[in-house]
Amino acid sequence: GKIILGDQILDRPDVHIDLEDRGYQFGDGVYEVIRVYGGKLFTMKEHIDRLFASAKKIKLDISMAPEQMQKLVEDLVKENKVDFGSVYMQVTRGAAPRTHMFPKPASNTKAVFTAYTNVVPRPASQLENGVEAITAEDIRWLRCDIKSLNLLPNVLAKQEAADAGCFEAILHRSGIVTEGSSSNAYIVKNGEVITHPADHLILNGITRQVLVKLCKENGIPFVEKEFELKDLQNADEVFITSTTSEVMPVIKVDGKTVGDGTPGKITRKLQELFEAKINREIMV
Ligand code: PMP
Repeated sequence: GKIILGDQILDRPDVHIDLEDRGYQFGDGVYEVIRVYGGKLFTMKEHIDRLFASAKKIKLDISMAPEQMQKLVEDLVKENKVDFGSVYMQVTRGAAPRTHMFPKPASNTKAVFTAYTNVVPRPASQLENGVEAITAEDIRWLRCDIKSLNLLPNVLAKQEAADAGCFEAILHRSGIVTEGSSSNAYIVKNGEVITHPADHLILNGITRQVLVKLCKENGIPFVEKEFELKDLQNADEVFITSTTSEVMPVIKVDGKTVGDGTPGKITRKLQELFEAKINREIMV
């Protein structure tokens, strides 16, 4: 498939990233993953806006207009004929001799934008049956609102989950549940959907933002407040959301069954609403 480098769409063998790219050496950059359904980029504007917002928070000048980026990514998806899949895009602070401080403007170092596509089916059986999760300590920094390339704590937590035969690690800071290693986390208690406030301790997921709207439109109580590990253990329902996992039921946490061990009623309702939104977007 083709790849975007800067403002060009190239063949993969023609893309060369410098050894001293700051993304490679420092994780000095930001990224996004956008879902493709039926050849259409889902919530594209929201993802591109968040990429620019993340870049701004680390004082990274993308030096490309969001509209141009959007057009490039749309062209890439068409060229690669992606039907169901995703686009991975990242921007780094570019290549410069290795030193922590930013390259000086006079060095002419430019941000490096790359993007490529993947073919990924919707996770149908997991959405139907639910998945298992472990809990793990959230050892990340205090700016989890930035979608930065530095994912080592997330990688370690996800591997711990995988080693336990689980799909996700749900993270907590001293007992307060924040989010998943690559997802937002929710409980349902007495008919209310509860999730951590969108502050510096979590990524404000685009799927989460869609969910907030769907809950509002459909009279489902959505509460942003802290909850604890014991609330997770005693929840009526647990689910996670992300671009690739959509609204994913969690049926076991740390080996303990959630509710009756099957995806809960409100989780199912949210899945239906989310799927209806996907289908509406594919149609237009
Ligand atoms: N939190 C973290 C740490 C993530 O990596 C992700 C996945 N990008 C999410 C939440 C969910 O965000 P989104 O719905 O935008 O994919």
